[in-house]
Amino acid sequence: MLLANPRGFCAGVHRAIETVERALDAFGAPVYVRHEIVHNQRVVADLEKRGAVFVEEVDEIPLGAVTVFSAHGVSKRVEADAETRGLATIDATCPLVSRVHTQGRRFAQSGHTVILIGHVGHAEVEGTLGQIPGPVHVVATVDDVKTLQIPDPDRVGYVIQTTLSVIDTSDIIAALKARFPLIKGQDTRDICYATHNRQSAVIELAGQIDVLVVVGAYNSSNSNRLREIGEAQGVPSYLIADASALQKSWFDGVRAIGLTAGASAPEVLVEETLAQFRQWWSELVVDEVAGRLEDVQFKLPTMAFGLSPKAG
Ligand code: SF4
Repeated sequence: MLLANPRGFCAGVHRAIETVERALDAFGAPVYVRHEIVHNQRVVADLEKRGAVFVEEVDEIPLGAVTVFSAHGVSKRVEADAETRGLATIDATCPLVSRVHTQGRRFAQSGHTVILIGHVGHAEVEGTLGQIPGPVHVVATVDDVKTLQIPDPDRVGYVIQTTLSVIDTSDIIAALKARFPLIKGQDTRDICYATHNRQSAVIELAGQIDVLVVVGAYNSSNSNRLREIGEAQGVPSYLIADASALQKSWFDGVRAIGLTAGASAPEVLVEETLAQFRQWWSELVVDEVAGRLEDVQFKLPTMAFGLSPKAG
């Protein structure tokens, strides 16, 4: 058994969870959170036990209540609705997502048509669409690029959903450059380091394993990408929300298992998965790949702890 490294929580997820915890400490329960703070049911359930209340829309939140926006970011409309309701908001949007918003706005303000490489319906994409003025075209495949209708092909800019990374967008970017030779791209420093590192770790692991298990929520974009990358490397790959989803038959005739976790999956889920494996195979040997060191940390939201909750 080989454990991928790095795996699991990234700096943006740590920051978002700590933001809710600090808000609960500072203001007491309930603290409202718009959307799952990160896409993981275990994280959500643990915070619910402490008094966080998760909602999908701000109109479900009592007037004036303390409210955290999730790591995925929100649209300008959501920000305006929250202000109208007098909510004491704390924005846990990952700073790397905020940079995508800023870059998209810069393109739009300089007269460029903005293309967002991402998946329609994902919370981050919905937030980004609502942060950029004017029309934004979302593309998820090379075929989507072929059908784009752009008023001025010489003034186009693209940004990328953070959980896709350069590895799985390279074909789409190549197709965009072929169709729009003057297209401007997102600054590569804005590509999410955590997504890139977790995907690279799976690619490095792939040559040494017969099957890959990814621990992560089924609605977690980056976890799904890790499973897809395993498959693309020719390794049968499974995404599990937790150890209860494992099926022993996946490992028939297998000599080496690879295990990783999406950026929103807590390490306890990896430990529970290992415990299930050990229950099945007591002689299991677990090695952790050396991997790339991550020392990225993001400051907590600045407004977070000077706020006084308004009366609800
Ligand atoms: Fe931020 Fe990247 Fe983590 Fe998403 S995966 S929360 S963009 S650090």
